[in-house]
Amino acid sequence: MMFKYLYRDHYIFNGNPIRYSMKERHKTNKQSKIFLVILMAVFVFFLIRLLNTRELDDVSPGIECEQKLYNKAHVLWVIPKFNSISISENKTWCKDILSLNKTLGMHGVTHEYEEFGSDKSQEYFDEGVKVFEKCFGEKPTMFKPPQLKISENNKKLIKNNNLSLLGNINQITHKVYHCNDSDIIKNWMVDII
Ligand SMILES: [Zn+2]
Repeated sequence: MMFKYLYRDHYIFNGNPIRYSMKERHKTNKQSKIFLVILMAVFVFFLIRLLNTRELDDVSPGIECEQKLYNKAHVLWVIPKFNSISISENKTWCKDILSLNKTLGMHGVTHEYEEFGSDKSQEYFDEGVKVFEKCFGEKPTMFKPPQLKISENNKKLIKNNNLSLLGNINQITHKVYHCNDSDIIKNWMVDII
């Protein structure tokens, strides 16, 4: 294949002279720049997720969870009262979770579907905090709503209780596994991306 420069914007390609206008050249340059930016953004995205702490959602004595998921995670998101059973009732479980020496966060109160999408009272929230504290000996300092759904009033509720609220950005920038593998993004996919 031959690509020979003739004179300004004129080339010979395989023996045929072609004109490669400034406009086309500019367009090609622009396209390759956009492609490069996208490529770099994807690379940075992968890197951030790879280097950030890994999280495990839906931790509860009522939800089966593979040991390897506990091992992978740095942060465990605990449901205080799944299926109306308080975690504090299961002292062995509380001790086992504490012995893993992970960062613990509060993941809803009962984890009903989009639980915090509808406004919740202080009393309702307190019940979750109380159960969490009874189990682990410490109040939760961070909160992640189930299905990441949270109303404006509930945002204020979490803030007024001095808990940091984690949501969509956290979920994108961290690898998040689920005990029951219930998310659209399956645990095996989280390993890859
Ligand atoms: Zn969840």
